[in-house]
Amino acid sequence: MEVFVDGESVEVEPGATALIATRLAGRTVATLCFDDRTAAFGACRVCLVAIEGAKAPVASCATPCREGMKISTRDERANRIAANVVELVLSELPSPPAPHTELAQVAEQLGIGQPRWTGATHPVDHDVSHPYLVLQRELCISCGRCVRVCDEVQGAFALTATGRGFNSTIAAGLNSGFAASTCVSCGACADTCPTDAITESFLFDIADQAGQGE
Ligand code: SF4
Repeated sequence: MEVFVDGESVEVEPGATALIATRLAGRTVATLCFDDRTAAFGACRVCLVAIEGAKAPVASCATPCREGMKISTRDERANRIAANVVELVLSELPSPPAPHTELAQVAEQLGIGQPRWTGATHPVDHDVSHPYLVLQRELCISCGRCVRVCDEVQGAFALTATGRGFNSTIAAGLNSGFAASTCVSCGACADTCPTDAITESFLFDIADQAGQGE
């Protein structure tokens, strides 16, 4: 079917999302809770685009294309909301995300520097019980990606989203620690985590020795 991205005609397969259409058109729409190995979640509100005729910006990862749909990646309101969402996320972290992380790259893409808000930040809380993986809860932004890859890609069901609002985080097993969970050490959670909240132990040790792991 034919859709239009910033006025450019794009052919997409039936079932394609607006995000896929933007990528086919060569646009770069920032995403945060999205991982193309899992079903769209549409929770973080970062991949916002405007659709002609829609009252408000929509999450492009969870919006299916319709014949003739007109998508704008340059909508001022959509871009402003996405930037504010990421700025709020950053404001809860005890320190800026490491430059190599996806969150840092998304922040740069959206032109966000130091968050304007200086509210509560998450206290340092590390689960180092696993032989290969470390969970740094203070860096968790509750995007849910680790839970979804663990469930949908690996089928291990080792991780659970827990808590509400500011206290949302990830629990391994029945909150008994990574080592006691059903984790099969595939590393998919660390691979998808956009903040290094879950990372491989040897990388954590290197950062720790450099004074960045605490
Ligand atoms: S641990 Fe990482 S991937 Fe999992 S919810 Fe937190 S930030 Fe997202």
